[in-house]
Amino acid sequence: MNPAMSSTDPRGYTVPDGLLRERVILVTGAGRGIGKAAALAFAAHGASVVLLGRNAQQLEDVHATITAAGHPEPAIAVMDLARSLAPAYLDLVEQLRQRYGRLDGLLHNAGILGHRTPIEQYDVATWHEVLHVNLTAPFVLTQLMIPLLRASADASIVFTSSSVGRRGRAYWGAYAVSKFGIEGLAQVLADELQNVSRIRVNCLNPGGTRTRMRRQAYPGEAPEARPEPAAIMAPYLYLMGPDSRGVTGQSFDCQ
Ligand code: NAP
Repeated sequence: MNPAMSSTDPRGYTVPDGLLRERVILVTGAGRGIGKAAALAFAAHGASVVLLGRNAQQLEDVHATITAAGHPEPAIAVMDLARSLAPAYLDLVEQLRQRYGRLDGLLHNAGILGHRTPIEQYDVATWHEVLHVNLTAPFVLTQLMIPLLRASADASIVFTSSSVGRRGRAYWGAYAVSKFGIEGLAQVLADELQNVSRIRVNCLNPGGTRTRMRRQAYPGEAPEARPEPAAIMAPYLYLMGPDSRGVTGQSFDCQ
């Protein structure tokens, strides 16, 4: 255990050099925002990152940034989590199996906000899409990746939560409900895998962060009021690295 680390709060984690060397970590929504920052941080600490997203150009740009910096070459997986069906998921699993033979980390980061609307007026199609991208797709991806995660000596699944997924707030609709669901999924899965696998499962709430989603949710807020994604990476690195071994079924905050 890194001595600079408090056992219960990863916000003050001092990240050792080469923390993620030899690890293979998949990041969803890796093309921009928090997912991009996580992919860059993981690669900078030695991980081979699998960049998953629906926008190929964004993923290629992140790939180019990582290789230009001399970090391990990432892989790209173009997938639209709102629309992908079983063959696309199975194809991804098979490609990772052939290329790496295992998965050490899975960061479920991709998400959509939907509309900020009262439940009385909430559009049903939007409800379905938000629940699908934010909750069902992480469930399916996790289920199919478990065999590759089991092949790791020390695997970590991180689900991205939100403060409105812990205490409901007016007008957050399907987004809040999806994040409550993610907290529940993480707890159930952590309990199932504890003591019978080397896979740990936790939730991480980034807190208000300077991204497109934050601007969409709070259009009147000054962007500088919130930290850049790169500034909140310590807990992500902690949960993906060996210092969090044995930590499972918990919910953490980045801010
Ligand atoms: P963002 O800037 O809107 O980025 C969201 C990412 O998810 C993008 O890469 C986006 O790809 C991807 N994505 C959305 N729908 C997708 C789909 N159907 N298939 C594949 N990828 C898809 O949001 P963010 O602020 O970085 O949020 C990242 C995570 O943190 C989310 O789970 C969010 O709920 C959570 N969070 C954020 C805040 C905050 O203040 N920013 C606070 C609490 C929690 P495209 O570029 O293709 O759209």
